[in-house]
Amino acid sequence: MNEAVNREVDGALRRAADAIGRARTIALACHVNPDGDALGSMLGLFHALRAADRDVVASFPPPFVVAPHYRELPGLDLLTKPVDFPAEPEVMVTFDCGSLGRLGELGSSATAAGELIVIDHHISNTRYGTINVIDPEAAASGVVVRRLLEELGLALTRDCALALYAALVCDTGRFQYDTTSPAVFELARELVEFDIPVSRLSRQLFEEHRFAYLKLLSDALGRAELDVERRFVWTSVTQEMLERYDVTLEEVEGLIDILRRTMEAEVTCVLKEEIDGSVRVSLRSLGEIDVCEIADQYGGGGHRFAAGFTSALPIPTLVARISASL
Ligand code: AMP
Ligand code: MN
Ligand code: MN
Repeated sequence: MNEAVNREVDGALRRAADAIGRARTIALACHVNPDGDALGSMLGLFHALRAADRDVVASFPPPFVVAPHYRELPGLDLLTKPVDFPAEPEVMVTFDCGSLGRLGELGSSATAAGELIVIDHHISNTRYGTINVIDPEAAASGVVVRRLLEELGLALTRDCALALYAALVCDTGRFQYDTTSPAVFELARELVEFDIPVSRLSRQLFEEHRFAYLKLLSDALGRAELDVERRFVWTSVTQEMLERYDVTLEEVEGLIDILRRTMEAEVTCVLKEEIDGSVRVSLRSLGEIDVCEIADQYGGGGHRFAAGFTSALPIPTLVARISASL
């Protein structure tokens, strides 16, 4: 544990708790195309504040669609549409969001906020807040939220625990990544006390898919390419494929976790064409290569092992460039 970082996080946590404690209203937002940690960490604080009768809203930028495997997360029905999000929040808190750009259309609310609290664990975080609670050693943003709740003196509730458990299980790859420390298990133990449906949630988050998705998956895996020399495996999902199989872009989030099983590959890449023609690129590595550095070159970010960016370049060009950089 890096003591200097820890002290800095502690100080920031105190200032964050202070600002949240004093606020009349609090506006929460997580990054675009939210994953389990983004939604879970945001909903964790949302439920704890609601249980304490605090005036709180939560949202994320358009497209305002949650991937179907997150449907059991409590409170999705209570989220505020981005158009109804306060334009000038008194206190705004962002979750798992490494840069202002990742807030999409909610970025303007963030810059207009009286106080902007950034809760995150991305090493690449640009520290765009007035209070930056960024712990690159935390396994998930949800871990930072748990510490914030302690600082706020707010008790865990069942909904809060379920949301934080989802954040933890998603960002540790079901307690399999290197970030899975004793502290992670201690937090998981604390959360599971709240009657968390561990196996049902696990199936929903990681395993269950519509049959249509499995068909698309077989197509995407069938066309995957492996460059043995560069230890690089990649595939892509185009809008045409999504239409043909009647699958949404949100459903494809976990495809990379299957492709990265490739034994011969150090780096895995999945390129997904968005509705506007831009390409969302996901990168994973086993640790030898820092994929965050690659994503950084295209204005993206993430972690050493998992990173991403969005580009206007065509898929073949992106593949050629990424491959050449390995
Ligand atoms: P993904 O491949 O979308 O699951 O994202 C993997 C990691 O990279 C996550 O930690 C994301 O927060 C980060 N990431 C993905 N896309 C971007 C982006 N456009 N800008 C910054 N970070 C990103
Ligand atoms: Mn995330
Ligand atoms: Mn995260």
